Formats: sequence, C-alpha cells, structure tokens
Amino acid sequence: MKAAILKNKRHIEIQDIDIPSIKTNEVLLRVHYAGICSTDIKIFHGELPCKYPVILGHEFCGEAVEIGSEAKNIIRGDCYNVQPNLSCGYCIECRKDKYSLCKNKICYGTHVNGSLSEYCAIDYRLLYPISEDKTFEGTFIEPIACCLYALNRCSINIGDNVLIIGGGFTGLIFIQLVKLRGGKVCLVTRSDHKRALARSLGADLTCKSIPETDMDFDVVIDAVGKPETIDSSIRAAARGGKLLLFGVNPTEVTVPINPYTVWEKELVIVASRGNGHNHFGAIRTMSKVNITSLVSHVIDLEAFETISGIIEDENHIKTVVSFV
Ligand SMILES: [Zn+2]
Ligand SMILES: [Zn+2]
Repeated sequence: MKAAILKNKRHIEIQDIDIPSIKTNEVLLRVHYAGICSTDIKIFHGELPCKYPVILGHEFCGEAVEIGSEAKNIIRGDCYNVQPNLSCGYCIECRKDKYSLCKNKICYGTHVNGSLSEYCAIDYRLLYPISEDKTFEGTFIEPIACCLYALNRCSINIGDNVLIIGGGFTGLIFIQLVKLRGGKVCLVTRSDHKRALARSLGADLTCKSIPETDMDFDVVIDAVGKPETIDSSIRAAARGGKLLLFGVNPTEVTVPINPYTVWEKELVIVASRGNGHNHFGAIRTMSKVNITSLVSHVIDLEAFETISGIIEDENHIKTVVSFV
C-alpha cells in the first residue's frame, strides 16, 4: 500500500509498504478520506513531538475490511470514523474520567501509524459507525469533536460576546458552534477571503487585527496557537472574561504575560486538548454546520509531499487526501 511516512523533521516520503497485519483487538480500515490538521503540519515541522518514523493523520473515515477476533460490534464492509486517541483506562487521569489527559495515551498519527496511507489498523473501540455516503464529511467529525470539547471547557452562554482569533478550519467551525449556542461572534484573520467566508457562516463582525477599542469579550478563543496572540487575547478579554487556549503552541515557546492584568480582570484561562470523547456529539452536530465550503484542497497522497506549499497559500483552509 502507499503511505506518507514522516521519517524525520520535514522529511516525508511516499512509499510502498506492506498492508499492516491486525492484532486480535484491531480492525483494518481501508481509508476513504483523511483530513490534514494544523497539528499534522506542526508535527511535520518538528514543532510538536512524535515518534519517527510515523504515518501522520488522525482525522479519517474508511471501510472495515478485516476484523480481529476480539473486535466487537464491527461489521465488515461498513464505514467508520475514528476517534484517534486511545487512553489507557487505568492511570489516575483516566480514573478521574479525564481521558484527554491520560499519561499513557496512544495517538494514531503521532505515536503509532495514522491515516495517510491506504490502510490503517485501529483498535476497534475507537470506531464510530457512519453511512458509506458520509465518509467525506465524516472525516471532520474529529476536529468538530475537538471544538465541542473546547466550548464545553469554557461554557459559552446565550448572548456572550466571543472573539475568535484565527480564520482557519477550526476558527470557522467555532463561529458556527458559538452561533448555535447563542453567542455573538467577532472573528479576526488577516485573510480577506476568510473574513468573507466567516461572514457567510454567521460571524457578526470580522476584523483584520484584534480590535483595540472594543475590549469586552466574554470569551476569547485562540484558534491559532502562536505566542504573539496570547498577550492580545488577554487584553481583548472583558473583566471577568475567559481565555481559551485551543491552538497548540510549539513545545519550546514561552511568552511574557502581565499577571496584574489577569488578576485585575479576574480572567479565567482554560486550555483544551484533544476531543474529550465528543464524537457522538460531533456526529449529531454535523448536519448543523457548513463544512464543504471549508474544504479548500482535495489531493491524492502523492501530492502530500508538497503540503508545505499548499498550507502556505493564504486561502488554504482544509486539505483532504482522497483515497477513493
Ligand atoms: Zn486534528
Ligand atoms: Zn490513562
């Protein structure tokens, strides 16, 4: 099978390798579509850790073609979406039901091989059934689950004034989810194209940079994950507001913040990591969000070698690798 193997930092090779043999608890999925996440790009650039060599990719759907003897409730030929993080179930965090924080978590596409290959062996407990004609849209269940988890972490209320920093895929999903929750949304992005898209998706206001005059945001969502947005997020938050760190910063980065401002405003700073097992919620939300207008590129696996160029295009939002 063809697979995009990350050999080392910024070194991807498309290779022909053996189809993985499954363990008794695994299912072999023939991958239909795999979404490229900004986390994949950060791993590619060496900004986030992974285990080399690894096949990237954690947003995907496919068809079950082989089923291990211990895998329950999986039907050969049916299609599934994947929750790509396997928590251990026995560490202290798992026992507290904080599965996203499991110390022994195995992440497909980071620690073990993920979806940028024609086939992928997956623990059966991570599969969520979807209909065969929904495997393209279903590829976005995982990032939507991450957004739902993030919004649960900062509990947005009807009428809240919400600033979303970043007009990438998740920024544009956040607009729609915050509107569903009755919030008022301002989205910040430098891209004219993404601002227009944001307005068409329901943003009440869009800006090129964080507004310096209106600093009354009940919730500020950093959907970028770059150090330069942290200070302005703190400044933009209302007194008594919340700052949600969603975008992942590079591991080595530190930023100066003004603790007096955090104290003086009584800010709550929350982070969200992963999908918090929100896949069922995400599946039920799919029909309420516009996804197809957010897919800017559909490519085949060979083209993944040029992914850096695609991502740097200012109008890039979401790339999907198609295997069908
Ligand atoms: Zn992701
Ligand atoms: Zn655990």
